[in-house]
Amino acid sequence: MHRLKRYAHFMVRFTVLASGSKGNCTVVTGGNTRILVDAGLSCRELFRRMRMVDEDPATLDAIIITHEHSDHVAGLAVTARKLGIPVYFTEGTHRAWVRWLSPRRQMTYTQWLEQCRKQAAARMAEADAAMNDECDPEEAEISADSAPVETAVPIPDKTIPEKDPTWLPSIQFFQAGKQLQIGDISVSPFTIPHDAADPVGFVFQAEGVRMAVATDLGYIPPNVKAQLKSVDLLLLESNHDLEMLRDGPYPWSVKQRVLSRVGHLSNEATATYLETEYDGQATYVILGHLSESNNLPELARISAERALNGHATLLGDRLFLAAQHEPMSNICF
Ligand SMILES: [Zn+2]
Ligand SMILES: [Zn+2]
Repeated sequence: MHRLKRYAHFMVRFTVLASGSKGNCTVVTGGNTRILVDAGLSCRELFRRMRMVDEDPATLDAIIITHEHSDHVAGLAVTARKLGIPVYFTEGTHRAWVRWLSPRRQMTYTQWLEQCRKQAAARMAEADAAMNDECDPEEAEISADSAPVETAVPIPDKTIPEKDPTWLPSIQFFQAGKQLQIGDISVSPFTIPHDAADPVGFVFQAEGVRMAVATDLGYIPPNVKAQLKSVDLLLLESNHDLEMLRDGPYPWSVKQRVLSRVGHLSNEATATYLETEYDGQATYVILGHLSESNNLPELARISAERALNGHATLLGDRLFLAAQHEPMSNICF
């Protein structure tokens, strides 16, 4: 029996596979569509975690990326190729990702993009129809360190796309502030303040259920507050405890970066938002992107619980913490 049948009556699901500075991945299911939000785990680990929570990697329809930091894209190329599915980026994020993977590329971005578009149809035809849902052991994950430095042959070999670390089966662009539809799921991307090229958060809507993803943001500006209204599920960053960060092991420059307006949300900032501005509408609040060096799950939880006390509609057991090293159970609507 197909393992998805167990969830057949839950048409809308939200599954955090990993959350934190060592990798971020979430699966959003709505109707017949399944989207992977970020691919910050290796393909092998991502597939392993999906199976742990009875999700089948072969049924993913698309990958959508919040921003180009490695904890959100480390397994992107391998996963997209393996599944033969499109990847949705903003143009700025895609450009930054390409630059990250090919620092010595000698084409301009425009030239390269044109080449990509011309080859897209051919590439799709080449995609392996009979997808093997195992990752090839020899297929190394891409990292900044392993990006090619072939100065003698700077332009990728068109006949062997795998030699181009930025090769993807299909690329789709979206813009912050412009809603898009991926199958049965409507996606509202919104700009977040973070030190990346064009970072975004998302509100996903399917079957009338609204699910927000807002991590990697230095503070919560008005446009984000507006997006987080009337959501049924809220995945919100609670990155660090201010005292732990201050006294912790990071160099001062890194502490400054985390604390800045384009860094990460502290437990305290998240609590302030939950206490004073959050509308209390979400059935599920998930705290995410917790720092392993500068936070403790208990601190994040206590801080958020105190803040949510005033919201009578929210039951205590509906506050969850997303973890770095294990997937959360599916949240089903
Ligand atoms: Zn991150
Ligand atoms: Zn980031």
